Amino acid sequence: MYDLIGVGVGPFNLSLAALLDEQEEVDTLFFEQTPKFDWHPGMLIEGTKMQVPFLADLVTMANPKSHYSFLNYISEHDRMYQFYFLQRLDIPRREYNDYCQWVAEQLESCRFGKRVTNVRHIEDHDSHFEVEVLDLETEEKKTYYSRHLILGTGTSPTMPGSAQDLPSNDVFHTSQFLEHQERCREAKSITVVGSGQSAAETFRELLKEQRDCGFRLDWITRSPGFASMEESKLNLEHFSPDYVNYFYSLPQDKKDEIFATQGLYYKGISNHTITDIYNLLYEYSVGHEEPDVGLQVLSELNDIKPNENGGYTLECRQWQSGDRFTHESDVVIMATGYRPNVPEFIHDLGSYLQWDEEGRYKVEADYRLETSESTSNEIYVHSGISHTHGVGSTNLGLAVHRNKVIINHLMGKNVYSLPKKSIFQSFQVR
Ligand SMILES: Cc1cc2nc3c(=O)[nH]c(=O)nc-3n(C[C@H](O)[C@H](O)[C@H](O)COP(=O)(O)OP(=O)(O)OC[C@H]3O[C@@H](n4cnc5c(N)ncnc54)[C@H](O)[C@@H]3O)c2cc1C
Repeated sequence: MYDLIGVGVGPFNLSLAALLDEQEEVDTLFFEQTPKFDWHPGMLIEGTKMQVPFLADLVTMANPKSHYSFLNYISEHDRMYQFYFLQRLDIPRREYNDYCQWVAEQLESCRFGKRVTNVRHIEDHDSHFEVEVLDLETEEKKTYYSRHLILGTGTSPTMPGSAQDLPSNDVFHTSQFLEHQERCREAKSITVVGSGQSAAETFRELLKEQRDCGFRLDWITRSPGFASMEESKLNLEHFSPDYVNYFYSLPQDKKDEIFATQGLYYKGISNHTITDIYNLLYEYSVGHEEPDVGLQVLSELNDIKPNENGGYTLECRQWQSGDRFTHESDVVIMATGYRPNVPEFIHDLGSYLQWDEEGRYKVEADYRLETSESTSNEIYVHSGISHTHGVGSTNLGLAVHRNKVIINHLMGKNVYSLPKKSIFQSFQVR
């Protein structure tokens, strides 16, 4: 009987596993379906960097002295001086992944190549969860027992319906970009659809290669512009424990209304990425050359179909003027975002859990799913909670804070003190 079983090992559960590794009285296991830790591998483009400082590693915000801190990773890899002269807080994304892999390899509690396929709640004198786990290599199923669960199942890529059944080597999501980079190099034309950070990073990478490879490059988005993320320091305070507490205290209809206005806090494009793209376009246009590139805003993709030229025809509509147009491309890359991954087996727990009117999790302030009866077995949750805990829920900078709250509840004591006030501005009237 374990105290806690984790489903999924992305950064959020990896952070929890690393912090709980220091707590001898708690027995834990974390199952991840992929063969090893890999953080959005299709988007580990060389030159991309983290959108949070390295201090938002897996442990530092809870315990800067932890063996699993990023600075210790740097030290253990004998890179202190290089990192010191680098003078950057925003480390390369590839390095963050390498750091997380270094942590994951040391944690006995993290098991890879294992998919959680079912969960049952057993109500008896020693009530617990039964967790069914499939070993993806041996195809063997095993059952594990735990008093509590934590869901760290992350997100799944979303693709428009019309794009889903097309050949995946030609029409794919940004989450698979690096897998298909060779295909892109051979294409005569490429179109990126969408205008968030992933779209911009993919477009920038293609733009760098465009003149050598010779393809036509287009970028189409429904948004009114290629909007930049709200990155001012005072605005970043929305990614703080204080704002989480304030947001959580509001009624659900208010939260939905506010969250809908906060897209640019997390969905826009980083300023430095837009600058890189603009600089490249400017360089390419020196000497009155017209770059073979198109940037089309205000235009929604309505349908995409294979055409007789071996490519694809995109049917689009400029939604302000109402003008319809078609656009042809050999390769189409969908930068159409992600949605919370709520595992099917959680739905199968039926009336044990409470769901809101929109079919979303109901979540307590300390990240426990609300249950219909009082129970001694908790399901904690990291993913799919933006509607309850706000815009910072998917942000790496708040993961350690959330894990501190979860550990305090799990262990029934104040293992970590929580900040009373961590920012300069006030959201609540004092
Ligand atoms: C390209 C990209 C870059 C990002 N960059 C940043 C950034 O710089 N800063 C920032 O703050 N945020 C960033 N984010 C947002 C966010 O922090 C990340 O998405 C982060 O990975 C979320 O961590 P997670 O642990 O919830 O989920 P994930 O990393 O999505 O991991 C979930 C894991 O659960 C596993 N899983 C799911 N179901 C099961 C099951 N049944 N059994 C076993 N395993 C299962 C999956 O295989 C997956 O590995 C980025 C997001 C993307 C897509």
